[in-house]
Amino acid sequence: MISNINPQSVKNKRVLLRVDLNLPMLDGNILSMARWHQVLPTINQMLSFEPKKLIIVSHFGQPKGFEARFSLTHIQRLIQQDVPSLKLIQKISDSSQDGVLFLLENVRFDEREKVSDQSLIDEYLSMVDLVVYDAFSVGHRKHGSVYGIMSQARQFLFGPSFIKEKSAIDDALARPGSRVAILSGSKISTKLPILKKMLVWADHILVGGGIANTLLHAKGLSLKKSLVDLNAIEDASHILKHADKIVLPVDGINQQMAVVDFENSNMGEEDSVLDIGPATCQLFAKYIDQAQTVLWNGPMGYYENENFQMGTQKIALAIAESSAYAIIGGGDSVAAVEDLNIEHQFDYISTSGGAFLHYIAYGSLPVLEAVKENRINLEEIVS
Ligand code: ADP
Ligand code: MG
Repeated sequence: MISNINPQSVKNKRVLLRVDLNLPMLDGNILSMARWHQVLPTINQMLSFEPKKLIIVSHFGQPKGFEARFSLTHIQRLIQQDVPSLKLIQKISDSSQDGVLFLLENVRFDEREKVSDQSLIDEYLSMVDLVVYDAFSVGHRKHGSVYGIMSQARQFLFGPSFIKEKSAIDDALARPGSRVAILSGSKISTKLPILKKMLVWADHILVGGGIANTLLHAKGLSLKKSLVDLNAIEDASHILKHADKIVLPVDGINQQMAVVDFENSNMGEEDSVLDIGPATCQLFAKYIDQAQTVLWNGPMGYYENENFQMGTQKIALAIAESSAYAIIGGGDSVAAVEDLNIEHQFDYISTSGGAFLHYIAYGSLPVLEAVKENRINLEEIVS
């Protein structure tokens, strides 16, 4: 897949550009402009092709109706110097006013967005000739400005960031040689699709976090007060049938930062396993060292608390030091790699979280399916 944004496809057109400006925010402050800097070259390139209108569309946070703190005015102020002609509009029909470059207010202020209401799709598509979809991270959502418009737009294209992310994942998954998946995180139920896919793709799956706790519980080991997904025991037992591929922790770190050994369980009734232990780190590092491709998602323990970061950091370093091709995705695991300043030692880092996992698990995204369902053939518009 290559992006076909070119002068012919854009010139004199009214273009809707769907991007992800969901910049990380804490206490009202934007923490990183990285997502904007990724989008800006695409905007500049498209402007150079002289569209009639270029309407930038994004969500921001999870507002319930209008909430001032989630207004794109906060972002507009920060990007004004890069795009001085940009005007913020409240609804897409406001783009008929003078001017070329517009930023539509947070699409999630409109309650029709999340249910992909037909009247909203009609509103969008009545104002534009071409939709350029460049927000991989929300491609798994069946929302109006994602699936909705892409399934009905008369002309559509995928943007360069979308294609870059898709290709990076495709290339990593297609690599030959030995493959290790490292899956961790809080709940097994949310990671089941990716676990199932990894059972096919990987030679070994190293498991940590609440997922490992739940698998150990299903194997009959009592982890006392640890995070266990009790609703997923049946699924966990099913996964354990493929035990030859699954590598479980052999020890952990409890709430008092003491090592607990799972073989001869020395756990107290009040114990909670909050990280993988040193023997597990060594065991996992051996597998990582022998792999040619490593795919990692999810911190190995309760990473938000600095007392329980060791396991995640040891795994991150083991991957960084190995010669394996390494791809990593998911908010929390990416944060761990950034904290250690070892980003450059990974071959691909995805900040797409849910969409990253969805695409790997299912080999597609609703936004890609939307295009297949669209009656207009892609070839017609790019040829
Ligand atoms: P990601 O965002 O990387 O995809 P998840 O959101 O599924 O991963 O899981 C991350 C969360 O799981 C973090 O909040 C982390 O603190 C928590 N977690 C991981 N292991 C444990 C554990 N043993 N006990 C409690 N919480 C854990
Ligand atoms: Mg998370």
